[in-house]
Amino acid sequence: MPDKVDEFLNWTWSQIEPIFQDLQQRPLDEDNIEVWLSEWSDISKLLDESYWRLYNATAMDTCDKAAEEKYTRFLDEIQPQVKSAEQELKEKLLASGISPHGYQIPLRDMRAQADLYRDENLPLLSEEKKLIVEYYKIMGAQMVPWAGKQIPLPMLQPVYQERDRERREEAWRLVAARQLEDRQALNDLWGKFLELRQSIAAHADLPNYRAYRWQELLRFDYSPEDCYQFHQAIQEVVVPAAQALYEKRRQRLGVNSLRPWDIYVDPFGMPALKPFTTSQELIANSANIFSQVLPLFGQYFEQMRREGYLDLENRANKAPGGFCSHYKYSKQVFIFMNAVGIHDDVQTVLHEGGHAFQAFECGHLPYFFLEIPSEFAEVASMSMELLASPYLEADQGGFYSPGESARARIQYLESMLLFWPYMAVVDAFQHWVYENHEAACDASNCDTRWVQLWEQFMPGVDWGGLEQEVSTGWQRKPHIFDEPFYYIEYGQAQLGSVQIWRNSLQDKSSAVAAYRRALALGTSVTLPQLYAAAGARFTFDAATLQQAVDTILEAISDLEMVIG
Ligand SMILES: [Zn+2]
Repeated sequence: MPDKVDEFLNWTWSQIEPIFQDLQQRPLDEDNIEVWLSEWSDISKLLDESYWRLYNATAMDTCDKAAEEKYTRFLDEIQPQVKSAEQELKEKLLASGISPHGYQIPLRDMRAQADLYRDENLPLLSEEKKLIVEYYKIMGAQMVPWAGKQIPLPMLQPVYQERDRERREEAWRLVAARQLEDRQALNDLWGKFLELRQSIAAHADLPNYRAYRWQELLRFDYSPEDCYQFHQAIQEVVVPAAQALYEKRRQRLGVNSLRPWDIYVDPFGMPALKPFTTSQELIANSANIFSQVLPLFGQYFEQMRREGYLDLENRANKAPGGFCSHYKYSKQVFIFMNAVGIHDDVQTVLHEGGHAFQAFECGHLPYFFLEIPSEFAEVASMSMELLASPYLEADQGGFYSPGESARARIQYLESMLLFWPYMAVVDAFQHWVYENHEAACDASNCDTRWVQLWEQFMPGVDWGGLEQEVSTGWQRKPHIFDEPFYYIEYGQAQLGSVQIWRNSLQDKSSAVAAYRRALALGTSVTLPQLYAAAGARFTFDAATLQQAVDTILEAISDLEMVIG
């Protein structure tokens, strides 16, 4: 094994292969299984970390040709070989019939993956990664002229919060027009994604890509029918509450109809929150807030700052979005995001902080656990946003006056509630796409389906005259391109995190302790067991959703009293 990850990044397959050959050739028994598993874990961690380091370099500078080449080389020359070598090891372990202590869930996952694995899919999966890079290249190149210079689209977000309605509309329309310029390019790319995904599913002898993805995402604890039940519960419980929130906003703003550029402005007529001006401030105050939730969380974040694992501020040629990646070999955690000085950025740091702390808490687990179930990874991140919310005030180490903090929290709680219907659109859209491959290959059918769902779940905002902008909404949802079906997790996790937050309103220290215990379990237990450990229930029913909506609405009305 190499001493340093940096050195390993330059290794060719011929240098890596002997490590796998050695593992493959060694006879397995109950006595040596743990050593064998931990050696395999080491090389897996190293490769996983390499992937993320190379990918992150392309995200940090989408114009860095050398970074793109290294990433592409890894995808072409290393990753397919590794997948096939790991596959052989999984088969070897499964064939041995040995069930190492604490490894039942990873074994269950491996069985599913072994089942799904096909040699002929390896080049297709690499091809898919390249299409994803292509998607982000199109999105990342979108710039508009504003105040005399060309700027990336996310930099206009603060304008949507300004009080001048005409200026908000001008910015909104400028962005929308720029996005529509890429409509055809994205439609073309979409067709390539769908063909590729159809072939991937067919190779795996599955009826459609949804069935493939279900197994790939290791969804053992719920079915597509459960998702439909969740959509239905959202329709019953959340859509009316969301519509009432939009109506309250319309009245507060004193406008005849609520337009898409009226969604982000403060409805009390206050100037937009400007929580920080430099990323140093963002980092320092976030560290204080994390410490208030639990001193250990503050220490983790401080470590990331000290060792250079925070890339928070927006700049040209940086991929959009925010995420957290776990460098499992060097036990480091990296947060990437595009801060521009608005409250959303604070929320993103708190969110990614939750992911980061889960990564740290899992660091003690002995083996390379395949994945934290994403339905629970998002519970980790979203619960952190809620658990941290009492400390947003400056006298708690945060960013705001009491009134500002109340506004920020109302905005967040409302956005949670408004998210569920949007999530239902994104999820239901994808169920339709992969159940109707032929129809979905024609992007105009996708436009039509998106509009139908939009009208069903998203009443309350007036999109009159903006038909093209509504119908292309799916093109601007990166998950649909780069993480198909990975979205309902956020909706489920919101429901989990509201339950954890509700517990903390009764007894903070025991709620945080249960939360941390659940983070440290990694994938050693099932999803419903993870929820239970955190003090929540993994469920999709209207009653639980209603209780969560009530908790949110009560908190909003308490916070409105602070504002007066
Ligand atoms: Zn997340």
